[in-house]
Amino acid sequence: MTLLDGKKILTEIREELSIKVQQYIAQGHRAPCLVAVLVGNDGASQTYVSSKEKNSASCGYQSRILRFDESMSEEELLNEIEKLNQDDTVDGFIVQSPLPSHISAQRIFDAIDPNKDVDGFNTINTGKLTKGMDCFVPATPLGIIELLKRYQIETSGKHCVVIGRSDIVGRPMSILLSLPKAGGNATVTLCHSRTQNLKQFTLQADIVVAALGKPEFLTGDMVKEGAIVIDVGITRIDDPSKKSGFRLSGDVKFDEVAIKCSYITPVPGGVGLMTIASLLQNTMKAYELKLGNNSKKN
Ligand code: NAD
Repeated sequence: MTLLDGKKILTEIREELSIKVQQYIAQGHRAPCLVAVLVGNDGASQTYVSSKEKNSASCGYQSRILRFDESMSEEELLNEIEKLNQDDTVDGFIVQSPLPSHISAQRIFDAIDPNKDVDGFNTINTGKLTKGMDCFVPATPLGIIELLKRYQIETSGKHCVVIGRSDIVGRPMSILLSLPKAGGNATVTLCHSRTQNLKQFTLQADIVVAALGKPEFLTGDMVKEGAIVIDVGITRIDDPSKKSGFRLSGDVKFDEVAIKCSYITPVPGGVGLMTIASLLQNTMKAYELKLGNNSKKN
């Protein structure tokens, strides 16, 4: 069994991006700029956003976090989005989920300029993704495809079973795997909470992507020998023995599954770090898109 090491690949990608940033700066351009918008005090969101900021800074990006109180109205947040859309010094920005219940997340995502939508949640980018057009792809499924590519794991002709059909992970994952291009060309089965006898599907899978948010759901008896298993789940479990008071659990019962499969991602240290890597790549893409557009104007 080989561990798919998100930390190693994130380090590689950060180095590649740092070199690009230095080259652009040497040519007289400013550094790429990523902004994260955080509404409220959700502990996990704060951790994710600071990690994104730290990683952006480490490859030479300008990055900042805009923090707002959870009592902020949807209109106020839409105003902030518009300011970021208009701000020429910002290449890409994300609005961290979950948002307070009085704010429609999709309305917010759809207000983001599609060319600055580095999380790929805007409906225009979703539509382009379904047609296989160039667009911003949600960072988690994009990171999984990148991880498979960097470990030279072929998806073409494989049977991939994705568990979970959310807009941000499961469904875009199923689309990417089925597209007629590198990292795709797979036969995809998308399972969800209404799927009956899930095990009959997972047992046939060459690649299983578990993205349902149920700790240790995928057990050893649900995967075939030699399968590739990608664990997207991140759930905080109370654990008084830890300084933080919790530990992170994936959707895969690691010890049971790892002994059967050929490759597996750890939690933490797998998909979560690849999500950050893809966000950094998407930000570079937004920056280069803007540079290209500006040079066409000149
Ligand atoms: P979600 O709650 O939006 O979606 C969960 C999906 O799982 C749903 O489509 C549902 O139909 C399906 N599901 C629920 N119970 C099921 C069952 N018993 N059998 C089959 N399908 C079932 O969740 P999400 O936002 O897609 O996130 C899923 C998990 O991935 C969570 O643990 C989340 O924290 C994690 N996540 C991790 C990253 C990362 O970077 N690693 C990014 C996003 C989400």
